[in-house]
Amino acid sequence: MTTISLFNTPTRKKEKFTPIYEGKVGLYTCGPTVYNYAHIGNLRTYIFEDVLKRVLMYNGYEVRHVMNITDVGHLTGDRDMGEDKLEAGARREGKSAWEIAAFYTRAFESDMQKLNLLAPTVWCRATDAIPEQIELIRTLEKKGYTYRTSDGIYFDTSRFAGYTKLSHQNLDELQEGARVEKNPEKRNATDFALWKFSPEGVKRQMEWDSPWGTGFPGWHVECSAMSMKFLGDQLDIHCGGTDHIDVHHTNEIAQSEAATGKPFFNYWMHGAFLIIAGGKKMAKSEGNFLTLDATFTDRSIEPLVYRFAAFQTHYRKPMEYSEEAVEAAHNGLQHLRNQVRQLMDQASDDAGRIDPGFRTRFTARINDDLNMPRALAAVQVLLKSDLSPSDKLATVLDFDRVLGLDLDRIGEPGKLPEEIQTLAEQRKAAREAKSWAESDRLRDAIEEKGYVVQDTKEGMKVFKP
Ligand code: AMP
Ligand code: ZN
Repeated sequence: MTTISLFNTPTRKKEKFTPIYEGKVGLYTCGPTVYNYAHIGNLRTYIFEDVLKRVLMYNGYEVRHVMNITDVGHLTGDRDMGEDKLEAGARREGKSAWEIAAFYTRAFESDMQKLNLLAPTVWCRATDAIPEQIELIRTLEKKGYTYRTSDGIYFDTSRFAGYTKLSHQNLDELQEGARVEKNPEKRNATDFALWKFSPEGVKRQMEWDSPWGTGFPGWHVECSAMSMKFLGDQLDIHCGGTDHIDVHHTNEIAQSEAATGKPFFNYWMHGAFLIIAGGKKMAKSEGNFLTLDATFTDRSIEPLVYRFAAFQTHYRKPMEYSEEAVEAAHNGLQHLRNQVRQLMDQASDDAGRIDPGFRTRFTARINDDLNMPRALAAVQVLLKSDLSPSDKLATVLDFDRVLGLDLDRIGEPGKLPEEIQTLAEQRKAAREAKSWAESDRLRDAIEEKGYVVQDTKEGMKVFKP
């Protein structure tokens, strides 16, 4: 197999990827907290993870991908302070926490489909893995890593020697933070809740019995429990955004390795932030967040433009969101589609051949820590080469297994915005009924919205010019 190098956060180096089991990869990606829509910053991280998965598949690996859905236990404040985000969301919208979770899970799935993110092998809600989380906490308790406070069961981070091996943080500075901490019962500033008790006299919407009292699991424990439940010992790669390095993933490693005595995941990969002008991180708490629908779909810009935009910046560099960047990506994607459309027109009926030279070049770039900007440049070199149109087409469609830009479906009405799709269907019906005036009116309506209508011998084609 060709070498894949991946930047591993604990060693801060690009390392050759070697899976635990030959030909197979266990991949865990931290999923959304479903109390609100995902913003396009979150989605940047999921695009990076999708590229990683596709690159592994392109290299012939069988990928078992697990993603959790956080529907309980993620608190509004850092380090186990504040309110459960789901319960806060429920109050905000006057619905139950369960309804909120179901609604935003569906919204997330819809975003994933719009961005061509491949569905995970296993999706799991935190609330569907409560027994496994309780079991993990019991193991930690037996091994002496836990202590009880008035509001929960905590993990004593001072008992785990490698606590900073992922983050390389200075523990003294972190302990310093303890002085401003609002929880005086914690032994160390970095200690975190494994199980939180429901407040005295309050019935939470989501709560479970446990050996320690009624309550709910802490956020970090769900990812450890679900990784082990669904990947077993196939713990190859674990991903998230860079904000997960210092707390969430650090805590996952501490509690998992304390419980099993074995290493928890060999590779940790983190995607950099989407930022907005001025360098600010896009975040729900900053009130500067944009959803995929508001930024793209509702403005009749195809969401795949965002996927293409994300490829312009390496995943470990901050990506700046701006209207200009969207415009440039829009033009770039249209240009690529036009190039492919031309090839489709020129290609002979025989299937082309995937060119081994260009494939090697493309593979070298994606395998170099997912270098998508350079991979896109390789696509342009291919398209401008003197290969035959059929071979170019076969090769670029092969690359699209990684790009995921639907290059094989250009002109198909299925991927058009709903509004255009409806007009296209109405026009098809008008033509079948030989209502030519109506058909012309609908053509104008479609073209007014920036689409091209072509009547070919295979039928009507509608596409973005
Ligand atoms: P959350 O739903 O808050 O748990 O976040 C989902 C994913 O998005 C996590 O992997 C975060 O690290 C990531 N994330 C959060 N904010 C951003 C951002 N501005 N840019 C890129 N990724 C982000
Ligand atoms: Zn996680």
